[in-house]
Amino acid sequence: MKYESTRGSKNLQSSTTAIIRGIAEDKGLYVPASIPRLPLTIDKMKGMTYQQIAYQVLHTYFDEYTDEEMQKCIDGAYDSKFEAESVVPVIKAGKAWFLELYHGKTAAFKDMALSILPYLMTTACKKEGEQSKICILTATSGDTGKAALEGFADVEGTEIIVFYPKNGVSQVQERQMVSQEGANTHVYAIEGNFDDAQTGVKKIFADSDFAEKLSKMGIKLSSANSINIGRLVPQVAYYVYSYVSLVEKGVLNDGDAMNVVVPTGNFGNILAAYMAGKMGINIGKLICASNENKVLTDFLNTGVYDARRDFHLTNSPSMDILISSNLERLLYLLSDRDGGAVSEWMQQLDSQKVYEVSEKVKDGLKDFYGGFCTESETLDAIGKMWKQEGYLMDTHTAVAYKVYEDYLAATGDDTPTVIASTASAYKFAESVASALGLDENKVRVLSGVSDGVTGFDYVKALEKETSVRVPSGLKNLEEKPVLHKGVCTKENMSDVVLEALK
Ligand SMILES: *Cc1c(COP(=O)(O)O)cnc(C)c1O
Repeated sequence: MKYESTRGSKNLQSSTTAIIRGIAEDKGLYVPASIPRLPLTIDKMKGMTYQQIAYQVLHTYFDEYTDEEMQKCIDGAYDSKFEAESVVPVIKAGKAWFLELYHGKTAAFKDMALSILPYLMTTACKKEGEQSKICILTATSGDTGKAALEGFADVEGTEIIVFYPKNGVSQVQERQMVSQEGANTHVYAIEGNFDDAQTGVKKIFADSDFAEKLSKMGIKLSSANSINIGRLVPQVAYYVYSYVSLVEKGVLNDGDAMNVVVPTGNFGNILAAYMAGKMGINIGKLICASNENKVLTDFLNTGVYDARRDFHLTNSPSMDILISSNLERLLYLLSDRDGGAVSEWMQQLDSQKVYEVSEKVKDGLKDFYGGFCTESETLDAIGKMWKQEGYLMDTHTAVAYKVYEDYLAATGDDTPTVIASTASAYKFAESVASALGLDENKVRVLSGVSDGVTGFDYVKALEKETSVRVPSGLKNLEEKPVLHKGVCTKENMSDVVLEALK
């Protein structure tokens, strides 16, 4: 399987090179030269573990890895650090099935891919005889950062640098990152929002003088963001797994359609569902759920991507994004791999912050349904689900559920539906507690504090109130020392990178 760039350069690369580089030389994103079919039928996958299904999916895309190498990557990634025995439980609540992707170390779905990416990357370096040290440069809206830090901490031959928006993440998310141990880890708050962080990182990737400078230091940059194909492909596996799981439960007959709802930010997770469909899983509608930063809702409804709008900080911060990087891959696939057109749209986005896709792409967008949900609707959805079903959703998953309810009301489509449940409620404890009617006073009583209430007290109060288990990675976070105190502006990110790598 070879990989080509979405910007049209026909330089085909091996999967190992694509994973090491992260982004193509023409600044495009790597996509497989064709989307492969699943190697096994659904019937054959019945009864398989998550690891076994992941192996089938990953090895099909990354066929340069030997059987043994791939098995080692899978075994190292999906082991007991996942606190659910099945890795990703599929749970019925309300009108949908929740694919719980957050039982890894950092309590968000980013662990699904970032537990395996370091294995894929170090194996790729070995295979390619790569001599340089790999520096992972990552912009995060809160969850990728911690998951990447956990994944790469003390991995030989790597350094990892994370930039997060200073006032754009929850207190729990921030402490998770700034308390990260590992001699090769570096974390900086940036004075700006996620798009500033992501744009800054992309600029550094595009700067060939800078690359030259690093190269003299024996360092190569790579990415742990979902622009890296090694991050995207592992996400395809859980959609295949969820389908097999619903067949096993008798909810679906082999071949029936399954709808998928994804709370969407950078468009990586929903693109993985789309790819699962192209591999042979019968995916019905792909329901793309946004918060008030609803640039994708508007895009799916009109074919015009218009980022000229105010940026909102919301209670689902991991989706506070106006530039969705992975959409580029979808445009490439829907335009029949027209790299010239994609290049042009991306240039327009860069210079004018707006572009309109072709009729052909608009036609392809009909597989998707776009909807959005406000902050107060998000809290209502959490409260209602808890009260009626005793099921606890985090804010992102709640956005997905509310948009799904809107979709149901609009279409009456009763196809069995899986909702990508992307984070533990405890990561966003403050919002979730307020959704359950726990005001500051009640939180004080429940958590046993006498003065100011912190984000960590909300975790305790929420646990007392719901008896839902706190993921071990989030326990006693407030006692973890702050090891990273760096702050930078979007202008001096490259200086900070050099400083960190000295
Ligand atoms: C990253 C993230 C999302 C958005 O996923 P994308 O792949 O960027 O669309 C949604 N929810 C949570 C909790 C996340 O961490």
